[in-house]
Amino acid sequence: MEVIIINNQSEYVCLGSCHAVISEGEYKNGLTVCGNETCENKGDPFVKGHKCENCGATYKEGQIHNCS
Ligand SMILES: [Zn+2]
Repeated sequence: MEVIIINNQSEYVCLGSCHAVISEGEYKNGLTVCGNETCENKGDPFVKGHKCENCGATYKEGQIHNCS
C-alpha cells in the first residue's frame, strides 16, 4: 500500500497577536474565525497563509515575509 503524504495543504492563519494556525480541514469543518479572547482580531476570519517558523509571525499567502 502506498502512503501519500500531502504536505502542500493550505493553512489558514490569524493575522492578530494570537498567531493561530489552522489546517484546511479545520477551516472546512467550520473553524473560520479567530476565537482567542486575548487577540485583537477575535471574530475576524482566518486567512489563507503561513506562519514563519523563524519568528512566529503569520502572513498571508503570496505575501513576502521578511524576518528581521
Ligand atoms: Zn487571533
